[in-house]
Amino acid sequence: MDTAKSPLPPHVLVFPLPIQGHVNSMLKLAELLCLADLDVSFMVSDFSHTRLLRHTNIESRFSKYPGFRFQTISDGLPDDHPRAGEKIMDIMPSIKNVTGPLFKKMMEESGCLVAEGRRPVTCIIADGVLSFAGDLAEEKGIPLIYFRTVSACSFWACYCMEELIEADEIPVKGNGMDLLVTSVPGMDGFLRRRDLPGFCRVNDINEPKLQIIKSESRQTPRAQAAIVNSFEDLEGPIISHIRTQIPRLYPLGPLHAHLKSRLALKTNQPLKTDQSSSSSTGSFWEEDRTCVDWLNSQQPKSVIYVSFGSITVVTRGQLLEFWYGLVNSGQKFLWVMRPDSIAGKEGESQIPVELEEGTKARGFMVGWAPQEEVLDHPAIGGFFTHSGWNSTLESVYAGVPMICWPYFADQMINSRFVGEVWKLGLDMKDSCDRITIEKMVRELMEVRKDEYLERAGQMAALAKKSVSEGGSSYCNLDRMVEYIRSLIV
Ligand code: UDP
Repeated sequence: MDTAKSPLPPHVLVFPLPIQGHVNSMLKLAELLCLADLDVSFMVSDFSHTRLLRHTNIESRFSKYPGFRFQTISDGLPDDHPRAGEKIMDIMPSIKNVTGPLFKKMMEESGCLVAEGRRPVTCIIADGVLSFAGDLAEEKGIPLIYFRTVSACSFWACYCMEELIEADEIPVKGNGMDLLVTSVPGMDGFLRRRDLPGFCRVNDINEPKLQIIKSESRQTPRAQAAIVNSFEDLEGPIISHIRTQIPRLYPLGPLHAHLKSRLALKTNQPLKTDQSSSSSTGSFWEEDRTCVDWLNSQQPKSVIYVSFGSITVVTRGQLLEFWYGLVNSGQKFLWVMRPDSIAGKEGESQIPVELEEGTKARGFMVGWAPQEEVLDHPAIGGFFTHSGWNSTLESVYAGVPMICWPYFADQMINSRFVGEVWKLGLDMKDSCDRITIEKMVRELMEVRKDEYLERAGQMAALAKKSVSEGGSSYCNLDRMVEYIRSLIV
C-alpha cells in the first residue's frame, strides 16, 4: 500500500473535566480511539497532567500510538487548592470562566490544533459538563459529541431537573426525603427524593451548584451525538428514555473493560485479570501494590475492599464508625485511606495511630490501590464503596457485590440502583454508625453471601458480553468510529 497517499485520519479532541473519575474514563475512550487508528488530542489540566506523569506509566503506555498527543491547559484553580470534598465543585465556575476563554484562544491561535501530518480537529468529544466546548464547536462548525461520565440514571435525573423543580420535588429537604419521585420518566415507584443526585440537596433552587448542573445537563442535545459509560443490559430502560432526547446515543461501557477486551483482540491474547492487562492508566496517586501481596495470602471471597474514591472526605468521627463497624463484623478488610481524605485542621486530619495499629490484625491499609486489579482478585468478596460511577462499573464487571455509602453528586442515585434495581448490594445512604455497618458487612459477606455473589456473577457476565465482539457496547463503538470517519468525507 502506498501510505504516502493515504488520507489523513480524523482528528478527535477529547476534553474531560480535569478530575480523577472523568480523566480516567475519558483516557480509556482516547485509547480506544487510538486503537481504531484515529488521531487524538487529549486536553488535560496542567495540574492533572503533572500528577499523571508523576504517578503512572502514561507516557510509555501512549508512546505506541503515534496519533496521540497531550494538550495542557489551566483549570483556573491555584495549585494548592485541595480539589477534594465539596470544594471540588469550585472547579465548575473556574473551568467555565478561566479555562473556557483559554481554550478558545488556543484553538484559534493553533488553527484548531493543526500540525504537520495532522488535520485540524475534525470532531470534539467533550465532557458533558463543558458547555463552553459546545459554544466553540458551534462557532467553528466542528461536530461535537458530549461524553456523560456519570451513570445514565444520574444523567437522566439531572436532565429532568426542570420538571422536578416544577413539580416541587426539589429542593430536597426536611421530612419529605422518603417521598417517591414522580417526574423522572422510568423511575416511578422506587426513586425517593433522597436518592436524587446530591446537587438537589439545596435550600433554594437558585443555588449555583443546582443551576449549573441543571443547565449543563439540559444542553447535551445540542451535540450531534452523546456517549454514556454504561451498557444496555444494565441501564437499557433509562437509555431508551435518553434516546427520546438524544437519538444518536452511544453506550460504550464499561469502558475499562471495553479497552481490555479490544487490547486482547488486537494482540490475539485471551483476557487476563492481572496487572499486565489492567486498563489502569489515569491515577492521580501512586498505586501501592503491597496490598496485592497481602490479598494473595487470603482465602477466596473473604475480604471486603473499602474505598471511597478520589474526592470523598470523611470526618474523624465517621472514620471511627467505619473502623469499629468493620472490626466488629469480624471480616477481613482492605481499606484505601487517601492521604487527603480526613477532614480537620492541621494535626487532626492524620489517620489515628490506634486505628492504623489495630488494623494490622484484621486488615490492610494503603493510600491508593490498583483498584481494578484488586476488585478482580479472587480474595475479594465485597466492596464497601462511595458509589462513584467508575467504581460501580468496576465492581459490576468484577462480579463483586457492594455496600454503598454515597458521599455526594451522582453517587446518591447510583447507590439506589445498586440496592433496589440491580439487587447487587445494600444502600447505606444517610447513615454512618458502627452498628449498621457491622450488620451490613455481615449481611453481604456471610448471611446472604451466596445470593449476592450469584446475582453479581450474572450481571458481570452481561457486562463481559457487552464489550466482547458482537456485544452492544462493542457494536456501538464501531458505529461511533464510523460516524466520526463519515464527518470528514
Ligand atoms: N481508584 C484507584 N485506586 C484507589 C481508589 C480509586 O485506582 O485506591 C480509581 C477507581 O478505580 C476509579 C476511580 O479511581 O476508576 C474513582 O472514580 P469514581 O468514579 O469511582 O469516583 P470519584 O473518585 O470520581 O469520586
